Amino acid sequence: MFAFKANAISGGNSINTIVLLDERFTNKQQKAIKSGINKWVYSSRGMISLSTTTISLANILNHLTDSGCVGVTAVIPLASSSNTIKSYDKQIKKYTLGLTYYNKCSLSFMFLVVDRLTDSRDLQVVSTHEFGHAIGLALDKHPDDVHAIMHGTYNHSTTSDCLTKIDMKLFCNKYDCDVKEMLYCKTD
Ligand SMILES: [Zn+2]
Repeated sequence: MFAFKANAISGGNSINTIVLLDERFTNKQQKAIKSGINKWVYSSRGMISLSTTTISLANILNHLTDSGCVGVTAVIPLASSSNTIKSYDKQIKKYTLGLTYYNKCSLSFMFLVVDRLTDSRDLQVVSTHEFGHAIGLALDKHPDDVHAIMHGTYNHSTTSDCLTKIDMKLFCNKYDCDVKEMLYCKTD
């Protein structure tokens, strides 16, 4: 069985999280997902720290039995033809690109609809967005700014590929930091 060292998500200045990446993602996809998730490490100046491991789905599911308050996110590919995505498409009346089930004190699941994310940039930005949910951001309401990565709808030409001030405000509201100290990009 895969063993890992879990660190609790806590307040203060350091949020350690573990990312379990499903080995069914191709190397190219893994690279895009990791660089998407790492935007949070960069923009938070290391307040978020990550360890990423590529493992099989069976081993990811073993973590379900783990207890305790751990910040672990499993990242799993899902096809647009799956029932979950079909019903979600209907519910939101849009094409679902990613879906995150946030469990503060358990394993969070982050699904990426890979056949709709064949462009690496798209996969990267959607990974940044979904990981924002995986660390507990914008669970009730997405921000209105169309450039923000945490906006509810992804648009290849208008959604920023780096975290914006609005995104980092969401982060600092939750994790108690000063947005002025964060690294974010300017958008029009
Ligand atoms: Zn969202």
